[in-house]
Amino acid sequence: MRKQIAAANWKMNCTYRQAEILLSDVLKEKISLEPHHQVIFAVPFPYLIMTNSEVAEEPNYFASAQNCYNKKSGAYTGEVSAEMLESIGVQYCIIGHSERREYFNESNQMLAEKVDLCLEKNITPIFCCGESLSIREAGTQNSFVETQLNESLFHLSAEAMSNIILAYEPIWAIGTGKTATAAQAQEMHAHLRSVIGKKYGNEVAAGVSILYGGSVKANNAAELFASEDVDGGLVGGASLVAEDFISIIKALQ
Ligand code: PEP
Repeated sequence: MRKQIAAANWKMNCTYRQAEILLSDVLKEKISLEPHHQVIFAVPFPYLIMTNSEVAEEPNYFASAQNCYNKKSGAYTGEVSAEMLESIGVQYCIIGHSERREYFNESNQMLAEKVDLCLEKNITPIFCCGESLSIREAGTQNSFVETQLNESLFHLSAEAMSNIILAYEPIWAIGTGKTATAAQAQEMHAHLRSVIGKKYGNEVAAGVSILYGGSVKANNAAELFASEDVDGGLVGGASLVAEDFISIIKALQ
């Protein structure tokens, strides 16, 4: 059964103390989860060790990095490698968030390198794709995301592809309060799954969790997650409010 995932992307928010409180507020709710449910906290680098130790006793909860660098090691001041993440027990890493693509000029090629380095260290990439508003208005979103997958993921073997989590995040819906409708999300997720199916076969495609991201809130999560090809969400703003993120976790199917 495909994993259904609620992933929190805290971005550059929270002091250390606020992070501890937010985590503990979510964990102390003791939400009853099925074995195929996962909750992932993508926290700032300085909070990864603390987050990992907080979730250590919780089988469905995991810590994730929000990024890593596309080089193994060396003179890259300020950067963090996949190997460093592995060395502190991190098992997930967001790759290719639209904010990284836009503000840090991350190209599809660079993201392919990051994906490879993560997989080499047994870190599951949460790979983000998604179109801008102008692309959506031009109606070319399907081919746009297909190119993102093609250039960053489709060099992988079928086995490696099975270890990817995809997040479809239409840029026009991120942090804007403007959510894709459940129908728009389902349509794109089905497209992504069929593109994966064409390249790797239906069995691989059926096993890849595809998360929706873009203004997922406590009041729309259940409707979005009910769609057949939507396997949970990557959640920014609402993951910073314990009560809201708890409701989103409870909406997992
Ligand atoms: C995100 O950052 O991945 C995101 C989807 O943000 P928000 O939920 O705030 O739109």
